[in-house]
Amino acid sequence: MNTNFEELKTYIERQTALGTAISMLHWDNETLAPKEAIKNTSGIIGILSGEYYHAAVNDRVMELLDLLLEGKEQETLDWKEKAIVHTMAKDIDIIKKIPAKEYMEFQELTSEAASIWAKAKQTNDFSSYLPTLDKIIQTLKRFAKYRVKPGQSSYDMMLNDYEEGFTTKELDIFFGKIRETVVPLLKKQKEKQPVNKAYNERYYAKDKQAEFGRFLAEYVGFDFQRGVLAESEHPFTMEFHNHDVRITTHYLENNLESSIFSIIHEAGHGLYEMGVQDALTLTPVGHGTSMGMHESQSRFFENMLGRSRSFWVPIWDRLQNTFQESLADVTLDQFIAGINKAEPDFIRTESDELTYSLHIMVRYELERMIFNNELETKDLPAAWNEKYQEYLGITPPTDTLGVLQDLHWSGGSFGYFPSYAIGNAVAAQLYHYMDQKLPMEKLLEEGNIAPIREFLRENVHQWGMTKTTNEMLMEITGEPLNVEYYITYLTKKYGE
Ligand code: ZN
Repeated sequence: MNTNFEELKTYIERQTALGTAISMLHWDNETLAPKEAIKNTSGIIGILSGEYYHAAVNDRVMELLDLLLEGKEQETLDWKEKAIVHTMAKDIDIIKKIPAKEYMEFQELTSEAASIWAKAKQTNDFSSYLPTLDKIIQTLKRFAKYRVKPGQSSYDMMLNDYEEGFTTKELDIFFGKIRETVVPLLKKQKEKQPVNKAYNERYYAKDKQAEFGRFLAEYVGFDFQRGVLAESEHPFTMEFHNHDVRITTHYLENNLESSIFSIIHEAGHGLYEMGVQDALTLTPVGHGTSMGMHESQSRFFENMLGRSRSFWVPIWDRLQNTFQESLADVTLDQFIAGINKAEPDFIRTESDELTYSLHIMVRYELERMIFNNELETKDLPAAWNEKYQEYLGITPPTDTLGVLQDLHWSGGSFGYFPSYAIGNAVAAQLYHYMDQKLPMEKLLEEGNIAPIREFLRENVHQWGMTKTTNEMLMEITGEPLNVEYYITYLTKKYGE
C-alpha cells in the first residue's frame, strides 16, 4: 500500500462526492425542477463547483501526483492506481490554468444557459440566446489562451479534450472520406422508389410510448434496479456511478421513431456506464473512456442492432400490439424500410444513418471557424443555413430547426460534436469484428442480446478509462480506428 496514494484517495473521495452532487442538480434541472428554480440553483451549482475545483486543484494534490508520477513510486502502484494518477494529472492540467473565480463563473453561466437556450428554441428566438452564447464562446476563447500549447490551435486543443489524439488534420481526412462516400449515395437514394413511412406520423399515445420504451430499454439490458428513464427536452444520459445511471427521452405523439431510437441510443450509453467494474466506479477512471467510444456504444445499439431486421423479428408483434390502431396495416418489412429511410432533414438527432455524419460535419466546420476567429456568434444562424444547403441540399425554415436545435453549445461543449462521427466509425469497426466471432443475426432473431452485450462489457465497458479508444480497438480488432469499415458499411447498406 502506497501511503501517498492513500492520501490522494481522500481527495478523490471528496472530489467525487462534490462532482456527484453537482451532476444531481444538473439532472434535476433538466428533468423535474420547476422552471423558476434555475437562477437560485445555478448559484448553488456555482458554489459547489468552487468547492469541487479546490478539491481537485490544490497544492497538496499536485504534490502527491508529482510524487506518484515519479518512477519508483509508480512501481508500487497497481494498474488501476496508475490509471487514476495519470487521468487525474491530465484532468487537472485542463483546469489548473484557469483561475478558480473564472471557472466558477463559467459553471454558473452554462448552468443558466441551458434554460435560456431551451426557451429560445421553443420560441424560435436566436436573438434572446445570442448574448449568453456569445459570452460562453468568448469565455472559452479566453480559457483556450490560458491552456493552449505553442503551435497548437485553440480548436485542436478543445478537440483533444474529448478525443485524445484527434486534431483537425485527422478529422479533415476523416470527414473528407465520409463526404466522398455519402454525397453520391444520397443522390442515389433520390433515384430509388420512395419509401412511404406515413405511418410514423400517426397518433402514438405518450403513455404507450413510455410503456414500450421501458420494455425496449430492458430488452437491450438496461437494468432498472440501477437505472432510471425520465423525460427531458433533449435526450441524454447522466451517470453518477455504476449503480446509478440515468437516461432520458422525449415523447412526440406524432412521431413513433423518435422516442424508440433515442431510448435505444441512451440505453447504449447507459449500458457502458453500468458495465464499468466496481473497482473503478467512483474514481477518476470510473466512466467511459472517451466521448467517441461512448457514442460508439450508443450507436452500436441504436443503428447496428436497432435498425436491423433481425432485431425487430422477436419484438415486432409487441410493438404492433401496443399501437394497434396506428400500426395495424403496417408490415415488419415496411417498418424496417421506414426506420432505414435516408433523406436529408433538419434535425440531427432524428436523422438517418446516411446523413448523420453530414450534420456533424456542419457543426465541426462552424466550430472551427468560430475558434479561428473567422465567424462571429451573431452570424451563426446564416452560416448554419448555408452549410445545410451546401451539404444536405436543404435550408432550415426556422432557427428552431436549425442552429438552435442542440443543447451542447449552451453547456460550453465545443469540440464535442466530432466524437459522434468517430463513434459511428468505431461502432462499424466493432460490429465488423464481432460479426466474425458471434452469430450476430441469429442471436438477434432469437431475442438473445445477452452474448452481444456481454462481449462489449468484457472488452469495452468494464475497463472504464483505464484504456484509450485506440488501445481497446487494437486489443479487440487488431488495429486502431479505421474509417474504412464505416464507409464499407454505409456503401453496402445504402448502395444496394
Ligand atoms: Zn449519444
